[in-house]
Amino acid sequence: MTDARRAAAAGPRARLDLLLGALQEIVLPLPCTGCGSIGPSICPDCRRALAPAPSLRHVGDRGLPVWSGLDYEGVARSVLLAFKNEGRTEHAPPLAVALRAALDAALPVLGTAPVSLVPMPATVRSSRDRGYDPVRVVLRRASLPSVRLLRLQRRAADQRSLGREDRLRNVEGTVAARGADGRRVLLVDDVVTTGATLTEAARAVRVAGGIVLGAITVASTSRRSGAR
Ligand SMILES: [Zn+2]
Repeated sequence: MTDARRAAAAGPRARLDLLLGALQEIVLPLPCTGCGSIGPSICPDCRRALAPAPSLRHVGDRGLPVWSGLDYEGVARSVLLAFKNEGRTEHAPPLAVALRAALDAALPVLGTAPVSLVPMPATVRSSRDRGYDPVRVVLRRASLPSVRLLRLQRRAADQRSLGREDRLRNVEGTVAARGADGRRVLLVDDVVTTGATLTEAARAVRVAGGIVLGAITVASTSRRSGAR
């Protein structure tokens, strides 16, 4: 990682640092985020690998439908991680295309009544550290209006090492919704892994009187990996 990249990932000065990084890239080419080859920040081959391939899966005990634009592996995973954790917000466009594809795949079951897109809330700390909220950046880039109905009530423990049941327990009560009464809601997140956080958000929306139609995400972990 270059100094400029490291600086961009470090804190609220992410935007300025990104600009400096972009300037540096003009003189000193950076590797492709997908495959490491020197050239554009995403090379043509990796751009092709980011072409959406929408999928549908069901998560949680109530079988919440989740539509995703990409499989969370290979190039898609590298680009999404760089976008979220290294300040690489220039990668938003292909991720926005993937989110749009997920929404298009969901359309047939959404009916004709209005639907509110509701992003999963980022923790205050992660937003502050990154200088941006990845889900909202992708939504904006996709020109999709969203409604912020969800807020975090408490922080869940790091759940990367937890299994599905433990994750559900870990996130219980972390999210609250308001202003959801009677709304038809489609939740929005960057990646779905076990679906525990989406399941918890759906619960909160229902408690607040909303109707949860499902969720859309940029990417989804493969069920073959056993991560469900
Ligand atoms: Zn590449």
